[in-house]
Amino acid sequence: MSLSGSWFSRFRRKGNNSDAVSMMPCDELRASGSDYIDGECEEEIHSKIMEHLGLCTECDSWLKSFAMTVGLMRDTPEVEVPESTMERIRAIKRPE
Ligand SMILES: [Zn+2]
Repeated sequence: MSLSGSWFSRFRRKGNNSDAVSMMPCDELRASGSDYIDGECEEEIHSKIMEHLGLCTECDSWLKSFAMTVGLMRDTPEVEVPESTMERIRAIKRPE
């Protein structure tokens, strides 16, 4: 087996660093960006992101534009309904 187990060593490194006062790295913040916007990240991660955003203007503006992009994507329908389908829908809705 050639499993590197890199995710596991990362997990352990995180655990070891939990006492240290260190700012979350930019790439880690960006990896958690969508969870943060969704309000789905852990409380610890959330406060780390908040802390980071207060100190890093680059990530602050990145997150703002990222949130905007996510918001725009969610406002847009995922698929465009083809005209032929619309015709069928109209046919169903049309009263006899
Ligand atoms: Zn940053």
